[in-house]
Amino acid sequence: MNQFQLVPDYKSCTWCNEILTLPQFIDGDYHFYCSSCFKWVNWRVNTLLSKSRVSYCQLQKLFFLFIENKSPNQALISFQKSFSSFQLNKNTVYKYFKLFGDIAYKYYQLKVLSTFLNGAIEIDETVVFRQKKTRARRYRKYKLQSMWLLGMIERESKNFIIVPIKARNDLNLMMTILKYVSIESTIYTDCHSVYVNNRRLLKESRLISYGYNHHFVDHSVEFVAKHFPHIHTTQLKDCGDQSNQI
Ligand SMILES: [Zn+2]
Repeated sequence: MNQFQLVPDYKSCTWCNEILTLPQFIDGDYHFYCSSCFKWVNWRVNTLLSKSRVSYCQLQKLFFLFIENKSPNQALISFQKSFSSFQLNKNTVYKYFKLFGDIAYKYYQLKVLSTFLNGAIEIDETVVFRQKKTRARRYRKYKLQSMWLLGMIERESKNFIIVPIKARNDLNLMMTILKYVSIESTIYTDCHSVYVNNRRLLKESRLISYGYNHHFVDHSVEFVAKHFPHIHTTQLKDCGDQSNQI
Protein backbone atom coordinates (compact mmCIF):
# COMPACT_ATOMS: atom_id res chain seq x y z
CA MET A 1 0.00 0.00 0.00
CA ASN A 2 1.35 3.40 -0.88
CA GLN A 3 1.50 6.35 1.48
CA PHE A 4 -1.66 7.93 0.07
CA GLN A 5 -3.75 4.82 0.56
CA LEU A 6 -7.11 5.94 1.85
CA VAL A 7 -8.21 2.52 3.01
CA PRO A 8 -7.31 1.66 6.62
CA ASP A 9 -5.32 -1.50 7.41
CA TYR A 10 -8.12 -2.85 9.55
CA LYS A 11 -11.77 -2.26 10.29
CA SER A 12 -14.29 -3.75 12.71
CA CYS A 13 -17.15 -5.79 11.28
CA THR A 14 -20.45 -3.90 11.20
CA TRP A 15 -22.31 -6.97 12.48
CA CYS A 16 -20.02 -8.75 14.96
CA ASN A 17 -17.34 -6.10 15.71
CA GLU A 18 -14.55 -8.53 14.92
CA ILE A 19 -11.39 -6.82 13.63
CA LEU A 20 -11.05 -7.43 9.89
CA THR A 21 -7.80 -7.06 7.94
CA LEU A 22 -6.55 -7.41 4.35
CA PRO A 23 -9.00 -5.26 2.37
CA GLN A 24 -9.63 -6.47 -1.17
CA PHE A 25 -10.37 -4.48 -4.30
CA ILE A 26 -13.65 -5.82 -5.71
CA ASP A 27 -16.00 -4.10 -8.18
CA GLY A 28 -14.09 -0.83 -8.09
CA ASP A 29 -13.81 -0.40 -4.33
CA TYR A 30 -12.16 -1.91 -1.24
CA HIS A 31 -14.00 -4.27 1.07
CA PHE A 32 -13.12 -6.28 4.18
CA TYR A 33 -14.40 -9.82 4.52
CA CYS A 34 -15.80 -11.15 7.80
CA SER A 35 -15.40 -14.91 7.86
CA SER A 36 -17.69 -15.21 10.91
CA CYS A 37 -20.62 -13.38 9.30
CA PHE A 38 -19.76 -14.38 5.70
CA LYS A 39 -20.23 -10.76 4.73
CA TRP A 40 -18.28 -8.02 2.99
CA VAL A 41 -17.86 -4.64 4.72
CA ASN A 42 -17.08 -1.61 2.58
CA TRP A 43 -14.21 0.44 4.04
CA ARG A 44 -16.28 3.66 3.99
CA VAL A 45 -19.01 2.29 6.30
CA ASN A 46 -19.18 4.23 9.60
CA THR A 47 -16.75 6.89 8.40
CA LEU A 48 -17.34 10.47 7.27
CA LEU A 49 -17.20 9.08 3.73
CA SER A 50 -20.02 6.58 4.27
CA LYS A 51 -22.41 8.57 2.08
CA SER A 52 -19.91 9.29 -0.65
CA ARG A 53 -20.95 8.08 -4.06
CA VAL A 54 -17.81 8.72 -6.10
CA SER A 55 -15.69 5.76 -7.17
CA TYR A 56 -12.59 4.80 -5.25
CA CYS A 57 -10.32 6.02 -8.06
CA GLN A 58 -12.08 9.38 -8.19
CA LEU A 59 -11.87 9.68 -4.42
CA GLN A 60 -8.17 8.85 -4.51
CA LYS A 61 -7.54 11.45 -7.19
CA LEU A 62 -9.48 14.08 -5.21
CA PHE A 63 -7.37 13.23 -2.18
CA PHE A 64 -4.07 13.42 -4.13
CA LEU A 65 -4.99 16.87 -5.40
CA PHE A 66 -5.99 18.01 -1.90
CA ILE A 67 -2.71 16.73 -0.40
CA GLU A 68 -0.77 18.47 -3.18
CA ASN A 69 -2.37 21.69 -1.99
CA LYS A 70 -4.28 22.30 -5.21
CA SER A 71 -7.24 24.64 -5.07
CA PRO A 72 -10.73 23.22 -5.78
CA ASN A 73 -10.64 25.03 -9.12
CA GLN A 74 -7.34 23.46 -10.12
CA ALA A 75 -8.76 20.09 -9.11
CA LEU A 76 -11.84 20.70 -11.23
CA ILE A 77 -9.68 21.51 -14.27
CA SER A 78 -7.69 18.34 -13.67
CA PHE A 79 -10.93 16.28 -13.68
CA GLN A 80 -12.19 18.03 -16.79
CA LYS A 81 -9.11 16.78 -18.61
CA SER A 82 -9.91 13.14 -17.77
CA PHE A 83 -12.06 10.82 -19.86
CA SER A 84 -15.77 11.55 -19.58
CA SER A 85 -16.88 8.77 -17.23
CA PHE A 86 -14.19 9.82 -14.73
CA GLN A 87 -15.17 13.49 -14.66
CA LEU A 88 -16.74 15.16 -11.64
CA ASN A 89 -18.84 18.30 -11.56
CA LYS A 90 -17.92 21.48 -9.73
CA ASN A 91 -20.20 20.91 -6.74
CA THR A 92 -18.77 17.47 -6.11
CA VAL A 93 -15.17 18.65 -6.25
CA TYR A 94 -15.90 21.55 -3.90
CA LYS A 95 -17.86 19.30 -1.54
CA TYR A 96 -14.96 16.85 -1.18
CA PHE A 97 -12.36 19.56 -0.72
CA LYS A 98 -14.46 20.98 2.10
CA LEU A 99 -14.89 17.51 3.59
CA PHE A 100 -11.13 16.78 3.46
CA GLY A 101 -10.48 20.17 5.05
CA ASP A 102 -12.97 19.41 7.84
CA ILE A 103 -11.36 16.00 8.46
CA ALA A 104 -7.86 17.52 8.56
CA TYR A 105 -9.03 20.21 10.97
CA LYS A 106 -10.73 17.65 13.21
CA TYR A 107 -7.55 15.58 13.25
CA TYR A 108 -5.50 18.67 14.07
CA GLN A 109 -7.80 19.59 16.96
CA LEU A 110 -7.44 16.10 18.44
CA LYS A 111 -3.67 16.25 17.99
CA VAL A 112 -3.47 19.63 19.70
CA LEU A 113 -5.38 18.22 22.67
CA SER A 114 -3.27 15.08 22.96
CA THR A 115 0.27 16.18 22.09
CA PHE A 116 2.82 16.64 24.85
CA LEU A 117 6.45 16.50 23.78
CA ASN A 118 9.38 15.09 25.76
CA GLY A 119 13.12 14.64 25.41
CA ALA A 120 15.12 16.45 22.72
CA ILE A 121 12.88 19.03 21.06
CA GLU A 122 13.65 21.37 18.18
CA ILE A 123 11.64 24.58 18.14
CA ASP A 124 11.39 27.18 15.41
CA GLU A 125 8.87 29.63 14.13
CA THR A 126 7.92 30.85 10.71
CA VAL A 127 5.55 33.42 9.28
CA VAL A 128 2.84 32.70 6.73
CA PHE A 129 0.58 35.10 4.93
CA ARG A 130 -3.12 34.74 4.55
CA GLN A 131 -4.59 36.29 1.48
CA LYS A 132 -7.57 38.28 2.56
CA LYS A 133 -9.99 38.95 -0.22
CA THR A 134 -11.55 42.37 -0.20
CA ARG A 135 -14.32 43.75 -2.32
CA ALA A 136 -11.65 45.80 -3.97
CA ARG A 137 -11.71 46.64 -7.60
CA ARG A 138 -8.79 45.51 -9.60
CA TYR A 139 -6.50 48.44 -8.82
CA ARG A 140 -6.70 47.90 -5.10
CA LYS A 141 -4.21 45.60 -3.52
CA TYR A 142 -4.97 42.53 -1.47
CA LYS A 143 -4.40 42.97 2.21
CA LEU A 144 -1.89 40.49 3.49
CA GLN A 145 -2.42 39.36 7.02
CA SER A 146 0.47 37.55 8.59
CA MET A 147 0.34 34.75 11.09
CA TRP A 148 3.11 33.08 13.02
CA LEU A 149 3.41 29.32 13.30
CA LEU A 150 5.43 27.76 16.08
CA GLY A 151 6.75 24.31 15.21
CA MET A 152 7.97 21.83 17.83
CA ILE A 153 9.35 18.40 16.98
CA GLU A 154 10.76 15.53 19.02
CA ARG A 155 14.13 14.68 17.49
CA GLU A 156 13.85 10.92 17.89
CA SER A 157 10.20 10.08 17.35
CA LYS A 158 9.59 12.93 14.87
CA ASN A 159 6.32 13.52 16.70
CA PHE A 160 5.51 17.16 16.11
CA ILE A 161 2.98 19.90 16.47
CA ILE A 162 2.53 23.23 14.72
CA VAL A 163 0.60 25.90 16.59
CA PRO A 164 -0.56 29.25 15.20
CA ILE A 165 0.29 32.23 17.37
CA LYS A 166 -1.10 35.70 16.91
CA ALA A 167 2.16 37.54 17.41
CA ARG A 168 5.72 36.45 17.98
CA ASN A 169 6.16 37.92 21.41
CA ASP A 170 7.63 36.55 24.62
CA LEU A 171 4.33 35.75 26.28
CA ASN A 172 2.73 33.91 23.36
CA LEU A 173 5.79 31.84 22.58
CA MET A 174 6.55 30.92 26.18
CA MET A 175 2.92 30.02 26.96
CA THR A 176 2.84 27.76 23.91
CA ILE A 177 6.12 26.05 24.74
CA LEU A 178 5.06 25.48 28.36
CA LYS A 179 1.75 24.03 27.17
CA TYR A 180 3.24 21.49 24.76
CA VAL A 181 6.75 20.69 26.00
CA SER A 182 7.52 18.85 29.21
CA ILE A 183 9.76 20.63 31.73
CA GLU A 184 13.26 19.06 31.84
CA SER A 185 13.17 18.48 28.08
CA THR A 186 16.18 19.65 26.10
CA ILE A 187 15.18 22.39 23.67
CA TYR A 188 17.15 23.38 20.56
CA THR A 189 16.44 26.82 19.08
CA ASP A 190 18.07 29.68 17.24
CA CYS A 191 18.87 32.73 19.33
CA HIS A 192 15.67 34.70 18.87
CA SER A 193 15.32 37.11 21.77
CA VAL A 194 12.41 35.17 23.27
CA TYR A 195 14.66 32.20 23.86
CA VAL A 196 17.93 34.02 24.49
CA ASN A 197 18.76 37.25 26.21
CA ASN A 198 20.71 39.00 23.48
CA ARG A 199 21.27 42.24 25.35
CA ARG A 200 24.12 40.82 27.33
CA LEU A 201 27.50 40.34 25.75
CA LEU A 202 27.38 36.70 26.75
CA LYS A 203 24.05 35.34 25.51
CA GLU A 204 21.94 33.75 28.21
CA SER A 205 19.09 31.29 27.76
CA ARG A 206 15.68 32.41 28.93
CA LEU A 207 14.26 28.91 28.84
CA ILE A 208 16.54 27.52 31.55
CA SER A 209 14.70 29.47 34.24
CA TYR A 210 11.51 27.56 33.31
CA GLY A 211 13.25 24.23 33.97
CA TYR A 212 14.30 23.35 30.42
CA ASN A 213 17.75 22.39 29.17
CA HIS A 214 18.50 24.71 26.29
CA HIS A 215 20.97 24.70 23.39
CA PHE A 216 20.84 27.54 20.93
CA VAL A 217 22.58 28.16 17.65
CA ASP A 218 23.63 31.62 16.66
CA HIS A 219 23.40 31.21 12.88
CA SER A 220 24.71 34.62 11.89
CA VAL A 221 27.60 34.59 14.32
CA GLU A 222 28.66 31.12 13.27
CA PHE A 223 28.45 32.02 9.61
CA VAL A 224 30.10 35.41 9.91
CA ALA A 225 32.67 34.36 12.46
CA LYS A 226 33.78 31.59 10.15
CA HIS A 227 33.92 33.61 6.96
CA PHE A 228 34.63 37.14 8.17
CA PRO A 229 36.76 36.75 11.30
CA HIS A 230 37.63 40.47 11.40
CA ILE A 231 34.02 41.48 12.20
CA HIS A 232 33.31 41.77 15.87
CA THR A 233 30.28 39.75 16.93
CA THR A 234 28.51 42.65 18.66
CA GLN A 235 28.12 44.36 15.29
CA LEU A 236 25.91 41.62 14.03
CA LYS A 237 22.24 42.14 13.82
CA ASP A 238 19.83 40.02 15.78
CA CYS A 239 20.09 36.51 14.44
CA GLY A 240 16.42 35.81 15.11
CA ASP A 241 15.64 36.97 11.60
CA GLN A 242 17.96 34.50 10.00
CA SER A 243 16.12 31.29 10.47
CA ASN A 244 12.48 30.71 9.64
CA GLN A 245 12.43 27.11 8.60
CA ILE A 246 10.54 24.60 10.71
ZN1 LIG B 1 -18.73 -10.11 11.33
